[in-house]
Amino acid sequence: MNAPDPKTVRGPVLVAGGAGYIGSHTVRLLQSRSIPVVVLDNLSTGHRESVQGEIEVVDLGDRKALGEVFARTKPVAVIHFAAKCYVGESVTDPAKYYRENVTYTWNLLEAMRAAECRDIVFSSTCATYGEPVQVPMTEDHPQKPINPYGHTKLHMEHMMHDYGKAYGLRWAALRYFNAAGASPAGDLGEHHEPETHLIPLVLQVALGQREEILVFGDDYPTRDGSCIRDYIHVDDLADAHLRALALLQGGRESLQCNLGTGTGVTVFEMIEAARKATGHAIPARTVERRPGDPAQLVSGGTRAKDELGWVPQRSGIESVLQDAWRFHEAHPRGYDG
Ligand code: UDP
Repeated sequence: MNAPDPKTVRGPVLVAGGAGYIGSHTVRLLQSRSIPVVVLDNLSTGHRESVQGEIEVVDLGDRKALGEVFARTKPVAVIHFAAKCYVGESVTDPAKYYRENVTYTWNLLEAMRAAECRDIVFSSTCATYGEPVQVPMTEDHPQKPINPYGHTKLHMEHMMHDYGKAYGLRWAALRYFNAAGASPAGDLGEHHEPETHLIPLVLQVALGQREEILVFGDDYPTRDGSCIRDYIHVDDLADAHLRALALLQGGRESLQCNLGTGTGVTVFEMIEAARKATGHAIPARTVERRPGDPAQLVSGGTRAKDELGWVPQRSGIESVLQDAWRFHEAHPRGYDG
């Protein structure tokens, strides 16, 4: 099968959550290819500064405003990043996750249906698989999420599946492993409030903003006792979204696909690589395991390569860390600082 050509993507493409971490890198890629883009974001966690050009500051909960954006901008496709993504918060406040992930996605699908916009590429996650029964995890791994965040993302996949069958929606669910890195230019990167992710926290230690990095457990059944994750560069993720959209626009009805490198990195290995990338000591201290962390999450199979022609270009941990470090050095307090 011929791989889809991301250069053939037709716009306008509405990017929901386009001012977020992965969204802003994808908007940048679309703009660099001169594909018309409509950036939609409520700026609750996204950053105005991460987008060049206009933003439709609209909340997906506001169906009227959403309908108006569709009527006015006439997108032919949607890439949907807008969602809440903290596992811990989803446990203590599931209502927020069902509202903002599930019902807001329903609002978006309804706006698409009313506007006869039928192609959507959607941020899914390896969290839809739950506790691994085999590692690496391929797309046919059972989907049994173990937290509300994963449940809501799986609901979103199911909604798209059902809309596909009934209304002809064409959809791609891209199940990411650990998004990481930053734009090589150093102007776009990862800035969450609060920050909970390993790489930004490690780099905040390198910057002297934190005293140490806490390692959540060193007694896992892995090569050094710390958890193994599969880190993918955010620009490689952006590229996969364009490829998936080209596939749908070429007539494909649906795709569920992992985005990972297939190579796992331990927490200790990541900290050591960050010491090399930054030249800073980065003190680390082992503490208790974080509840809900599986020992290993690594993507398996070759579907992304086979179906999308996707081969990660910058996902080695050295380039991930170099790029992330460049962003952190240039923005030590994140975008707003
Ligand atoms: N981790 C850690 N200390 C931290 C943050 C994360 O040891 O301060 C570990 C975490 O247990 C996991 C890995 O780093 O094994 C990646 O965590 P992150 O929160 O970045 O992503 P997740 O895998 O939870 O999506």
